[in-house]
Amino acid sequence: MSASIPANAGHPCRVPADPADLVIPDSLLPADGRFGCGPSKVRHAQVDAIVAARDDVLGTSHRKPPVKQLVGAVRSKLTDLFGLPADWEVVLGNGGSTVFWDVATFGLIDRRSQHLVFGEFSSKFAQASAAAPHLASPTTVESAPGSHPDAVADDGVDVYALTHNETSTGVAMHLRRPSGTTASEALVVVDATSAAGGLTWDHTEVDVYYFAPQKCFASDGGLWIAACSPAAVERIETIGASDRWRPASLDLKIALDNARLNQTYNTPAIATLVMLDAQLDWMLGNGGLSFAAGRSAASAATLYGWAGNRDWATPFVADPEQRSNVVGTIDIDATIDADAICAALRANGIVDTDAYRKLGRNQLRIGMFPSIEPADIEALTHCIDHVVSHLANF
Ligand SMILES: *Cc1c(COP(=O)(O)O)cnc(C)c1O
Repeated sequence: MSASIPANAGHPCRVPADPADLVIPDSLLPADGRFGCGPSKVRHAQVDAIVAARDDVLGTSHRKPPVKQLVGAVRSKLTDLFGLPADWEVVLGNGGSTVFWDVATFGLIDRRSQHLVFGEFSSKFAQASAAAPHLASPTTVESAPGSHPDAVADDGVDVYALTHNETSTGVAMHLRRPSGTTASEALVVVDATSAAGGLTWDHTEVDVYYFAPQKCFASDGGLWIAACSPAAVERIETIGASDRWRPASLDLKIALDNARLNQTYNTPAIATLVMLDAQLDWMLGNGGLSFAAGRSAASAATLYGWAGNRDWATPFVADPEQRSNVVGTIDIDATIDADAICAALRANGIVDTDAYRKLGRNQLRIGMFPSIEPADIEALTHCIDHVVSHLANF
């Protein structure tokens, strides 16, 4: 089945000069119009949790039981969600995933890292380690945007830097230790910023799984969180005991010591932790990661299935195995301006569907994180159809 651009012959609809004047009928609109890839839709229950915390948690010391219990709850709920063994440690600190690249450069890479580079975010960590004077030049394995490369086992490498979901392109990868390597020789360190909580993974294939809470966890940004295997903890302890200079705020050993006490080195945003905790309760209360990842998978099936049935829309990621369930990228035929689609959607309360700027494609990029209702992804497709059928009148 294929729907072409509807011809306008005899069609009575009004043709707006500006896409922002286009009115989408209420009956087509999603219940919630937030489809951004981070910050992303926050569920009302998470905001209600902030209100519930207004008297005894917000505005209280992060060194005292109410906030320490909150940090402890977040650490143990993440351990449950990911099904981690008891000897893993959940460490956290301020600054988001971007700062974690610097943290890892100081405290996880011993000598040389290998980076899989397949988009904007994965290239950033490679740049950070390349600039570090205390490290040997990293190696990179690259592939064109819209695909991902595979790690190449290399004796000289002690950190393999993978990205579970490349948010700039909508490519997801299955996490696997490079064949022939073991955690005692080289750590697998995964940027899971947009994947954590929305894609499944196997902890035996990974040593550090780090993320920030503004994507699947639907909170505010500004924190980094890293689940660390025993081998990763050992590396942190070894570098921590060495004479390598590390700024204290980027010192993973200091962060680990604080995390073990359910604290952060310096003051965290408590409301963000409250929202994260509420999201973890929602995920765990409904069945855990299979529930959360299942919602994203259902949304992705709808979005890619829809695009496959339109001759003016194509999933950007050619290999269905590499298509992300949490970030969908849909190329739009050159005869239709994707920016105009986004402008018309935004004027109707449907926001943040724009492509990643630097990718430079005529594309829509849709967040499909667990908080986003699969039914709203379906509604979004109807809204895009409506907009395109009217834009085609230009
Ligand atoms: C959003 C994102 C980042 C950046 O996260 P910040 O918390 O803003 O630093 C890094 N990596 C990936 C894969 C992302 O999606």
